[in-house]
Amino acid sequence: MTPHIAIIGGGIGGLCLAQGLRKAGLDVTVHERDRTPADRLQGYRVHIDPHGARALHDCLPAHLWEAFLRTTGQGGQDFGFLTERLNLLTLLETPKAGDPADDHHSVSRITLRQVLLSGLDDVVRFGKTYERYERLPDGRTRLFFADGTSEDADIVVAADGGNSRVREQHLPHAKRVDTGIITVAGKFPLTDATRKRLAPRLADGPNTIIPPRGMGLFTAPHDLGEPVTYGGIGVTEDEGALMDNTSSYVLWAFGATTGRFPPEISEMSGGQLKDTVARMIRSWHPDLRRLVDMTDADTVTLLPIRTSIPIGPWPASTITFIGDAIHSMTPMRGIGANTALRDARLLCVELTHALTDGGDPVAAIARYESHMREYGFAAVRGSLRSAEQFIGDSRVARTGFKTFLRLVQRFPSLKAKVFA
Ligand SMILES: Cc1cc2nc3c(=O)[nH]c(=O)nc-3n(C[C@H](O)[C@H](O)[C@H](O)COP(=O)(O)OP(=O)(O)OC[C@H]3O[C@@H](n4cnc5c(N)ncnc54)[C@H](O)[C@@H]3O)c2cc1C
Repeated sequence: MTPHIAIIGGGIGGLCLAQGLRKAGLDVTVHERDRTPADRLQGYRVHIDPHGARALHDCLPAHLWEAFLRTTGQGGQDFGFLTERLNLLTLLETPKAGDPADDHHSVSRITLRQVLLSGLDDVVRFGKTYERYERLPDGRTRLFFADGTSEDADIVVAADGGNSRVREQHLPHAKRVDTGIITVAGKFPLTDATRKRLAPRLADGPNTIIPPRGMGLFTAPHDLGEPVTYGGIGVTEDEGALMDNTSSYVLWAFGATTGRFPPEISEMSGGQLKDTVARMIRSWHPDLRRLVDMTDADTVTLLPIRTSIPIGPWPASTITFIGDAIHSMTPMRGIGANTALRDARLLCVELTHALTDGGDPVAAIARYESHMREYGFAAVRGSLRSAEQFIGDSRVARTGFKTFLRLVQRFPSLKAKVFA
């Protein structure tokens, strides 16, 4: 009998892993607390980098990889660093890769979820909120859910996100903390008419806007052109501009330390959040102010930024972790989902080899975890550094950084070397 693998959490990492294990013919179920696929989902686009693209390519069946490619938007390949007056500091050019599995993509989080859920009707169980586990004498694990049910599994994969209940029980010393940074994000609708009202760079590709000190703004277009649907993929399921995955927009995310926002920030409506950001950037370039002013208040949300604290190795067992459940990170490098996808691919390869060749699954999990800890915690540290730079309060450090960016822009070979 093939061992049974239970995945807790049907988010980006858990579903990608389920697709890969299922493609390999293994016995897998996903337990997801949300009752329907669209519950609690935020509506912004996700940048998929070559790690994420390779994982999706390898784990998805060919027709779903095709569906993913057809339903992505243009996000622009080149990354700009600009001042708050929209003066270019430097542009990091990324040539298009020959193989889309090695490339960058911009995808709606909702559309990605539709891709990842396709064909998994008999694998994903919605409305299953995991609560705790018990080890059984035969080495299996019994999982208990809030609805009073339980399930036994040979291997358990915790993919239950940043507030992982599995991590709380299995690795209680692994902590996740508040960074003291808050971001407010929104969607500026991108149409032929609104495009003319923005500096071209804002619709051409992603940018970080660096003002003199204390705050930062990230912008990224998600341009669908003529939206394409593929079966039920790319179709909007919920009303409202936030969950609309058929329209083009520029995502913006403004960040600063909590103390720079009004004390009642966490109670504010979308409209109040938008007005607050508008006030904080009132001396910036008019196009940046327009980006915020013309945003539909329904798409504006508050995101307190948290991060995990890397821990040392733990003994491998039949319970393991992928994605935010073990290495949640600030979104400032846009690599949390990509790292979750990378985990899913690597764990899928290791488990498939072990379980189809009669190998030892715990040894396979140990190999996966040792590799994952290295790149996963490096990503956590790097993302925290990026978050601290994003809101950096030292005018001197900011001026130095901008001078450095202007310098590398003048010397392309230096730029290529520094940002390699
Ligand atoms: C604003 C923002 C923008 C971002 N942009 C990017 C980007 O461009 N690129 C990028 O790579 N990353 C990005 N990230 C990070 C990325 O969203 C996460 O790293 C990624 O979603 C992690 O995937 P995951 O599968 O580990 O967890 P999740 O996607 O959070 O999935 C966890 C799942 O587990 C379920 N769950 C939780 N608890 C339980 C329970 N007790 N029982 C059952 N189910 C449970 C949840 O409902 C959820 O479906 C962004 C994050 C934010 C906040």
